[in-house]
Amino acid sequence: MAAAPKKKIAVMTSGGDSPGMNAVVRAVVRTAIHLGCDAFAIYEGYEGLVRGGDYIKKMEWHDVRGWLSEGGTLIGTARCMAFYERPGRMTAAKNMVLHGIDALIICGGDGSLTGADKFRAEWPSLLEELVSKGQLTKEQIAPYKNLNIVGIVGSIDNDLSGTDATVGCYSALSRICEMVDYIEATASSHSRAFVIEVMGRHCGWLALLAGVASGADFIFIPERPQPQDWREDMAQVVTRHRSMGKRKTIVIVAEGARDKDGTKISPEDVRGLLADKSEDGLGLDTRITTLGHVQRGGTAVAYDRMLGTLQGVEAVHAVLEATPETETCFIAINENKIVRKPLMEAVQDTKKVAAAVDAKDFEKAMSLRDAEFADQYFSYLTTTNAMVADHKLPEKSRMKIGFINVGAPAGGMNAAVRAAVAYCISRGHDPVAIHNGFAGFARHHGDKPLGSVRPFNWLEVDGWASKGGSEIGTNRELPSDSGMDLIADLIEQYGFDALFIVGGFEAFHSVSQLRKAREEYPSLCIPICLLPATISNNVPGTEYSLGSDTCLNELVNYCDKIKQSASATRRRVFVIETQGGRSGYIATLSGLNVGASAVYIPEEGISLEMLNADVNHLKQEFKNDRGQSRAGRLILVNEKSSKVYDAKLIASIIREEAHDRFESRESIPGHVQQGGAPSPMDRCRAVRLAIKCIQHLEDYGCHAHNRVKRDPNSTAVIGIQGSDVVFTPMKDLEERGTDWPNRRPKTAHWLGLRDVVDMLGGRPDYPRPE
Ligand code: ATP
Repeated sequence: MAAAPKKKIAVMTSGGDSPGMNAVVRAVVRTAIHLGCDAFAIYEGYEGLVRGGDYIKKMEWHDVRGWLSEGGTLIGTARCMAFYERPGRMTAAKNMVLHGIDALIICGGDGSLTGADKFRAEWPSLLEELVSKGQLTKEQIAPYKNLNIVGIVGSIDNDLSGTDATVGCYSALSRICEMVDYIEATASSHSRAFVIEVMGRHCGWLALLAGVASGADFIFIPERPQPQDWREDMAQVVTRHRSMGKRKTIVIVAEGARDKDGTKISPEDVRGLLADKSEDGLGLDTRITTLGHVQRGGTAVAYDRMLGTLQGVEAVHAVLEATPETETCFIAINENKIVRKPLMEAVQDTKKVAAAVDAKDFEKAMSLRDAEFADQYFSYLTTTNAMVADHKLPEKSRMKIGFINVGAPAGGMNAAVRAAVAYCISRGHDPVAIHNGFAGFARHHGDKPLGSVRPFNWLEVDGWASKGGSEIGTNRELPSDSGMDLIADLIEQYGFDALFIVGGFEAFHSVSQLRKAREEYPSLCIPICLLPATISNNVPGTEYSLGSDTCLNELVNYCDKIKQSASATRRRVFVIETQGGRSGYIATLSGLNVGASAVYIPEEGISLEMLNADVNHLKQEFKNDRGQSRAGRLILVNEKSSKVYDAKLIASIIREEAHDRFESRESIPGHVQQGGAPSPMDRCRAVRLAIKCIQHLEDYGCHAHNRVKRDPNSTAVIGIQGSDVVFTPMKDLEERGTDWPNRRPKTAHWLGLRDVVDMLGGRPDYPRPE
């Protein structure tokens, strides 16, 4: 029996380019080939589909080598007028049939995806017409009765409903935040105001998240204009911040910003008010910076590479599983979960936002955005208006909350503390800093504590949004190291009603100790909440710890540079040692983001068979390489993967076995992995999750000893699990979710990703250790 013909899957990028599109193309091409299909790229978007010929190109495995670290889209994109019309789509259909393409994966914005859906709906009639006009024969169209289409949203605006993030949006946000960080330094030096215009004609996501991540003084977004006169509102906020002693004023304006009557607000309008020297104005030395296309530029951040890759893989599976009855889907992400969703519903919901904005129905516009958008809007309001918010709690419900950082510093710790302090102030609570972890708390001179417990100074804290490290100081010691007697006594002395703890596995362990000691020490019967923050991402109860995204970005930058350094010799393998404790998360995700040839992690260990198979694979790769690879190859090894095989030894083994056909070097980034300025994702998630933590503590209120004792969630870890943000009781995690000897969760949600890394890196199959 003849083998079934190979399925031919094509991939295209369309609309505005966005960082991460190359990750999508690479993943689609390699997954398709891996699954026994032929892969095609359609160059220049729909334009290429209409033109046909050389614009439709069969892709081989090595054609996409090195694409992860390239910005924009290497297969080009274009706006195509012809595709809006039926004759254009008919030519496109003919080209698809002539190339034998059965399925199309399109990465683009809502316009591109609308076009795709229309194309699929019309497909049978387009083919019929082609036959009736004699351009194709019945035999030619027979195998292509249905067109299979899957969408991936590539857009820097993050404007599509139904998905939390679009491929490219976090890269654009990173560019913006980087620029705002630069501008802040000069603004502060000269005591200036800056009006920064960012992209977003219909969607304020970039402006909103940039405002949250940078702690901007004021933002303008299309979905939510000021309910009153924006001039009065902005003047009030800016005057207040200046009177508190702030030396800089940052205002972020989305391109599509409007006032409540629908009139466009331009950066010039905003500057007019800020710079106005009359009595009504603010008289500030004000400059406008329009970021423009910088926002699209550069290589993709770690998150966009991951998103593009995983969505590309999922899209190929969706194509292969689709039947003629399957509704056209697109690949979305909700919190941390990749899912398939009906395409047209999302496109229609997106159009409804624009319509609601046009109709000045701003409530509706906000409600049509996802939950994260509303949360972040609340975060922005809370942190900007901390001092004046009028939702203070009654006196008796106000709490004294101790803030403490435990473990190594991680990106986002300061942003979390800042947001939680702002929220506390807005509610009338009394937030108190405990400096330098439990060790700092316990430091005494004779009977006197050494001043490690201090109230926050809001002016100082307000500047922490973009700061790395831990401003209140952090320490690895556990409460038991200082003595639980002393810690319990101090909590009583200071009269804390709750504790908010930010940190990694030591913080988790500390919270567990505090919980267990409750029976003995009544002062510990207070609500305690942990916000996980560690680059290792090894805290049970969450799939994401603050700081892990910053770390991945550092590693991505580091690996890109190292890989490129081999571009002259081309025949070099780098063995890069990552941190991560006994969790292989950052090694695996970095492997996914940079296209590693192999990743070694503690969860699997390293065996001679693995090394042997990988060395043979490398030999083969270099043998087959006819100069296509423009850079070196990477192997990532977590520092605790093996007691014997460390990065140096692995590099030596490879060198020895390569017999001068290629070279090998080890490279250890070390503490660079903790990162400088935290990534915008870490900052924004820090803000959102920290506020939720304080709200959780607030639920218990003061003097709730009995309820605290009864309710296991009174000592909880906040986490992202799949598509939800949840609080998990510490007790459950201690007993069922924690691999204590290895200091990591019992199940690693990301473990399945190593197969994706191996598949896309072309790594050979070998039996994995149990
Ligand atoms: P961005 O978000 O960057 O604007 P987009 O995908 O929305 O991206 P568009 O310019 O709207 O960008 O669409 C890209 C291309 O998709 C168009 O040039 C056109 O070829 C096709 N297209 C868009 N909308 C339709 C439609 N309604 N019918 C047919 N084709 C369309």
